[in-house]
Amino acid sequence: HCFPFAGSTSSGSSSSSAYTWHLRFGHLPFHKLLHVLPQLSHKSSFQCESCQLGKHHRSSFPPRSSRSSHSVFELLHFDVWGPSSTPDLQDHRYYLVVVDDYSRVSWVFLMKHKSEAGHVIKKFINEILTQFDTCVKIVRSDNALELCASSLEQFFRDKGIIHQTSCAYTSQQNGVAERKHRHILDVARTIIIHSHVPHSYWGDAVLTACYLINRMPSSVLGDLILFSVLFPDRELFSVAPRIFGCVAFVQLLGPGRDKLSPRVIKTIFVGYSRTQKGYHCYDPSTRRYYVSADVTFFESTSYFSPNGTQLRVPEFSDEVHLPLPLMSYPQPVASRFGAIYNVALNLFNLPTVLLCLHPARP
Ligand SMILES: [Zn+2]
Repeated sequence: HCFPFAGSTSSGSSSSSAYTWHLRFGHLPFHKLLHVLPQLSHKSSFQCESCQLGKHHRSSFPPRSSRSSHSVFELLHFDVWGPSSTPDLQDHRYYLVVVDDYSRVSWVFLMKHKSEAGHVIKKFINEILTQFDTCVKIVRSDNALELCASSLEQFFRDKGIIHQTSCAYTSQQNGVAERKHRHILDVARTIIIHSHVPHSYWGDAVLTACYLINRMPSSVLGDLILFSVLFPDRELFSVAPRIFGCVAFVQLLGPGRDKLSPRVIKTIFVGYSRTQKGYHCYDPSTRRYYVSADVTFFESTSYFSPNGTQLRVPEFSDEVHLPLPLMSYPQPVASRFGAIYNVALNLFNLPTVLLCLHPARP
């Protein structure tokens, strides 16, 4: 399960590069990072202040529970988090987390209202039935009303799915969704602290945390990578991971752009597309999201400064209306990544659209 972009760390033995990968992987602890990037020097060491500030003490986690399923999607865990005191950039205040008991892969769905959970769950289960041609047998949740709405219960009955609420099974089993919540929020909190983004970016941080956790080794599964258990033939990342919250220059494409209008805009990197091969970038000045694979990252520059104001990047300040130098910007990292990416694709002999196939967005 070696990470296919591993070869791009030409200076992989230096501690700074280990630290960069630590940041890209949502502050993954170093011993776990070595599982994904074994070529990193075992002598690398770094101290990360954001990890100290962001992470819960491990003992506050619910006890780890072993798997009680024998195949993927046999048993699903559901839980709703919220309301958030701050709505996210698209006005969400809740999220639903779904955990597959066998693979421990999770999905996060942002919601404006708690009552959307029933609809999201029905859609998710229908997608599983169609895409994986398998049967969901049991779903587990707490007793929250929104997960026990009568139309949802009727849906479960029609599909022959048993719905177990927390009173119906042991407290030890109750921990799977709860534990996943804590892990997702730990990673989301840490990347928010590290990048100095305002709290309204929590929705993107939670989606990014879930995306990264699915691609981390899990001690529950003997350090296997969750995503590879569910999708053994798919590449782990369709685009190379980058540091959440850094400055990202998006190349503007498409018709209607005359030769003198800006070709590149400065945005903040806020995550990965689950349906396209590309990055999610956000322009706070226009409140627009962009999905693009054609992005130049300034990974060592956070878009926001520690006191919450937007940082200026001297070379490409907002006054530059014609960022022509960027057109011939050498992009050494990007081109090297492209080469590595193609090598990885050839190695695994996979089509490039793998991550687009599954609409349920792991
Ligand atoms: Zn860290």
